[in-house]
Order: sequence, then C-alpha cells, then structure tokens
Amino acid sequence: MPTGSHKKVPGIMARWRIDCRSADLLMSRQKDARLPKTERWALWWHLRFCDSCRAVRRNLEFLSRVIRRLDAPLSPSKND
Ligand SMILES: [Zn+2]
Repeated sequence: MPTGSHKKVPGIMARWRIDCRSADLLMSRQKDARLPKTERWALWWHLRFCDSCRAVRRNLEFLSRVIRRLDAPLSPSKND
C-alpha cells in the first residue's frame, strides 16, 4: 500500500461532512439562533445531497412561518 498517495476528497470537504442526526440538531438550533459560519456550511453541504433532511427543513420552515403568523395579530386593526 502506498502511503503518500493523493487524496481524492479535499480535507475541508471531509471536515464538513455531517450525518443526519447532526444536521437535524443544527437545523433545530438554527430556529433559535444564527449558526456559526462553519456549521451553516456543514448543514448546507449535507442538505445538498440528503433528500430526507431537505424535507425536514422544509417542514421546519413551514412550522416557523405558521408560528410567526400565530404570534402576529391575526387581523390588522388599524384605526386610521
Ligand atoms: Zn440527512
């Protein structure tokens, strides 16, 4: 086995690779606070090729939109 062979996957990409559980965790953390740049990258990279996590994220976005709408006053009652 050659020891000094070229690596095919760039190290930086390998560092960004996370599994679905980590992606799920990052997405739920993202609801409350802005993630550090590296974690956002890692999540983005994971979502690029993971259909199930993309679906999860779509659900989260939908839910947060609904929650935001519930927080806001339902009928705009401006008296002008
Ligand atoms: Zn995933």
